[in-house]
Amino acid sequence: MWEAVQRIQEERPLVADEVREIGCYNGARGIWRDKRSTSDLTPSGNGVCVGISSRGKYEDEILEETGTYDYPATKSSTYDEGDIDSMRTALELGLPVFLIRDTNSKGELVQGKGPKRRVDRIEFLEDDPISGNLVFTFSLGGRMDYRLPADEEGSCFQARETTKREVRTKKRSQAAFRAAVVRRYGGKRCALCDAPSEVIEAAHIVPVSDNGSDDSGNGLLLCRNHHALFDMGKWCLEPTSLEVIPAKGHNLQSLGVPRPNVSHLKVTPNQEGLDWRWGQFARKSTHS
Ligand SMILES: [Zn+2]
Repeated sequence: MWEAVQRIQEERPLVADEVREIGCYNGARGIWRDKRSTSDLTPSGNGVCVGISSRGKYEDEILEETGTYDYPATKSSTYDEGDIDSMRTALELGLPVFLIRDTNSKGELVQGKGPKRRVDRIEFLEDDPISGNLVFTFSLGGRMDYRLPADEEGSCFQARETTKREVRTKKRSQAAFRAAVVRRYGGKRCALCDAPSEVIEAAHIVPVSDNGSDDSGNGLLLCRNHHALFDMGKWCLEPTSLEVIPAKGHNLQSLGVPRPNVSHLKVTPNQEGLDWRWGQFARKSTHS
């Protein structure tokens, strides 16, 4: 199927009938599982998902070529559970899922309904532990342009190569980063307080604007308040003791920080990122 798609897509966008004939998608709703020919393959009978049609409804961070696609996993109806089960099955079997989007005649993505279709491959799927959504990573032409950072320790800084390929890998996904950071620290807890999981975010220690990477070691789980205060430079972690150091004019109480340090974390952030951030903090703030 993918080869058939590519043959046409190298020349021009597909039309809806071609997508159906090839077998990528044949439904009306967002998720199409080929129940007729695949329900026997799955113990649940839910079948295997083949294609997903995206018309902007669930789109979160879909970029031109890469991105994530959040699909709500917590809908109460069993229908959605079957859909999600069918997607998991596809990914477990190592089958790509096709992402069908609308384009104009030139092949440019359009919001809402366009006359033509673009078919991409979703290669990766996982739970976003915070939103409870499923996060897809796909890439145009089936290339793995964006992957979650591997669990092994990486750098807090992005590679500086400027080849086209490297530029493409820099496309980022906040949801994928968040999932990696939650996995690293093993829970949805603010490093500084006990805020509920609904308000937990993944903060970049070395900010993206300073060439920070999406490696989990460059991340810290913080509640919205402590994330905002971190980004404002109102506190920082001393990189050796891991003590929370307030900026001048603040103290732990005024910042609403119950813990004097983050040494309770079983896994700590990357040292190079902590060192870099501390350097920035020390330069800007005569801390108390
Ligand atoms: Zn907090």
